[in-house]
Amino acid sequence: MEERDFFDERPEPRTHTLTCPHCSVAATYQLNWLVRRKKSQCPRNADERDRARFAKAQSYMVRRDDQVACTNVRCRKRFEVTGLQTVADLIDTSKLPADHREVPAPVQTNDREAALRARFARKTY
Ligand SMILES: [Zn+2]
Repeated sequence: MEERDFFDERPEPRTHTLTCPHCSVAATYQLNWLVRRKKSQCPRNADERDRARFAKAQSYMVRRDDQVACTNVRCRKRFEVTGLQTVADLIDTSKLPADHREVPAPVQTNDREAALRARFARKTY
């Protein structure tokens, strides 16, 4: 059984703030990611070994764009996407605050955000 049998795969654009190394202008860019979401159930024809692999499998995403063209009209140079992982754990970014939405982050960060939000909520009410 192939690894791809465990995942539903689809391309997904995500927005990231990137800084051009040529002109130092930060702008928002849409990058293409390939998102592999773990299937809710192990495929029916899986053997015991496949089931063990499926249990360990986790959803993740792979960045497909390595370069972007600078949006600054006086620059327009292409530059490499750095500071972003090429493979990231998949989290539901829609549940994060807006300023964190563009960054795919490990699950720990998500937990910390939730903890911070909970603390903030207690102060407010
Ligand atoms: Zn530039």
